[in-house]
Amino acid sequence: MLEQNNLIQPISPALQELVIKETNHFLKSAADYYHRKFSEIPVLFDLTGRAAGMYRVKAGQQVIRYNPYVFAKYYTDNFNETIPHEVAHYVTDILFGLKKIRPHGNEWKAVMQVFGVAANRTANYDLSGLPVRNFKKYVYFCGCQNYELTSRRHNKILRGAGHYLCRDCGNKLLFIKNQERTG
Ligand SMILES: [Zn+2]
Ligand SMILES: [Zn+2]
Repeated sequence: MLEQNNLIQPISPALQELVIKETNHFLKSAADYYHRKFSEIPVLFDLTGRAAGMYRVKAGQQVIRYNPYVFAKYYTDNFNETIPHEVAHYVTDILFGLKKIRPHGNEWKAVMQVFGVAANRTANYDLSGLPVRNFKKYVYFCGCQNYELTSRRHNKILRGAGHYLCRDCGNKLLFIKNQERTG
């Protein structure tokens, strides 16, 4: 009766390697088109939550971050769209300065055109199954083992709209504690 919580696994190191290569490929395209160098920057796969990618500058260091879970669920779409999207943010930062332009304004759109990619601000994915920030689990106990319930099931129990029985001992599951889980 208890479903396993089927969380998406992040993309493998081999696929991450391909994503980094593709990122650098777009940097090269930009360099060829604008006749200037765009240095390779760190590419991290540490983004969680709903965003597929992010370009940011922190303490003077430019970084592109990808969400390895979103890439795992929609690899091809993100390979084709998120990579040029984030590289275009970096390129406009170098060309214009991020503070002087709107994030998805004409400058960014122009770079996307150079890349030959449709300039969609964000893709609209169904992200169910992805771990999100502050992913809450609710720990229940029956007498013989712990169960982790989703907030949907937990709320159902709180509303009195249902209860769950242990598949082994048959006892009713009783709430013990919240458990914060991140990404
Ligand atoms: Zn963007
Ligand atoms: Zn039990």
